[in-house]
Amino acid sequence: MRCPYCHSGDSRVVDSRELSSGESIRRRRECGNCGRRFTTYERVEGVGLIVVKKDGRRQEFDPAKLRQKLRVALTKRPIGEAEIDALLKRVETDLLTLGAAEVPSSAIGEAVLRRLKALDEVAYIRFASVYRQFGDIDDLRREVEGLRPEAVPTVGGSGADGESAPAGTNVERGTDADG
Ligand SMILES: [Zn+2]
Repeated sequence: MRCPYCHSGDSRVVDSRELSSGESIRRRRECGNCGRRFTTYERVEGVGLIVVKKDGRRQEFDPAKLRQKLRVALTKRPIGEAEIDALLKRVETDLLTLGAAEVPSSAIGEAVLRRLKALDEVAYIRFASVYRQFGDIDDLRREVEGLRPEAVPTVGGSGADGESAPAGTNVERGTDADG
């Protein structure tokens, strides 16, 4: 950190203080060359994850945008902002855990669906219908039926910590001819 007065790179921190709930830190520094003091601020950047869209375009992962989509899916559902926050954090963590600097947008969609399924089934279906672009009512029905076998009894509790198994356990069931 260069001194703004003499441009020496030699400075030491004389005081640090957290600002606004730890999101940034203010430091007082003293220049080792001219002895003058100056202030620096340090803050956490975004997670720096790059999303690769279907058409190949790249853009920075934008939690705000994702929150917007979740809000739409959660319209009139009994899910508060805090729970949306928590879900976004989990999705972000899921994505970071992949360990890649770039993730396909499909990975984000799947991560959201996985987390949303545990939170609210109606919102899950809404999100899936947009994200997976259901072509017809059969797509929708298949998705709803997919919820049935391992439907977790969500009794208002927020801590559905049971990771549902990947959907490999689909019950083999031919389309009911209903006759
Ligand atoms: Zn200096």
